[in-house]
Amino acid sequence: MKSVAQTNPVVEPNENSKKKRVGILGGTFNPPHMGHLIIADQVANQLDLDKMFFMPDSLPPHIDYKDAIAADKRRMMVELSISGNPLFNLETAELERGGVSYTFDTIIELKRRHPDYEYYFIIGGDMVDYLPKWYRIDELVKLVHFVGVARAGFPKESQYPVMWVDVPLIEISSTQIRWNIQHKCSIKYLVPENVENYIKEEGLYLE
Ligand code: ATP
Repeated sequence: MKSVAQTNPVVEPNENSKKKRVGILGGTFNPPHMGHLIIADQVANQLDLDKMFFMPDSLPPHIDYKDAIAADKRRMMVELSISGNPLFNLETAELERGGVSYTFDTIIELKRRHPDYEYYFIIGGDMVDYLPKWYRIDELVKLVHFVGVARAGFPKESQYPVMWVDVPLIEISSTQIRWNIQHKCSIKYLVPENVENYIKEEGLYLE
């Protein structure tokens, strides 16, 4: 394992275990952007992960997400953005289950499906503060390793065990990209080129 900044007690992964080390980046991906790709790559590299799941949610529990575009379009953009990276995979558990996406339910399902996987669940610094409110969080922290990545304006602190991985601070957000499109500002280099083309072809986020 490469250098990892840790500020909280961490459940040490068993280096000798035969389990596959699998990262999960869950999100609404409305749309996916370069920040998502950079943090997933950095975490995969620094924690020597065997693969990384990009997992679009169906309905996130924490917000009233009326602005999220249809799930099939978010899924398509995630597929486009991860194409060409053999470590990155689309995970559709939450889209297939539908309804509100509780991470606890998802992890139970994924563990049943892949008992030989050990999960590293990435959360941006903006999400860490919400952990105490997550559904069945006390059980969830025993099922996954939470991996924190810093986000501008949010402290690297948590009431729950989080292993912090140092990644470059990237101030790109899906909110900013939607804003740029509505205001006719460029999104070039903020999202992968194939995602930019898809957004244009489908006329997404214009209003
Ligand atoms: P929005 O602006 O619509 O809230 P977002 O940019 O936060 O969206 P999500 O799809 O909600 O994107 O993010 C999925 C996960 O990736 C979350 O844990 C989020 O904190 C994290 N994340 C997204 N962008 C960044 C970034 N630039 N730096 C660090 N973490 C990020």
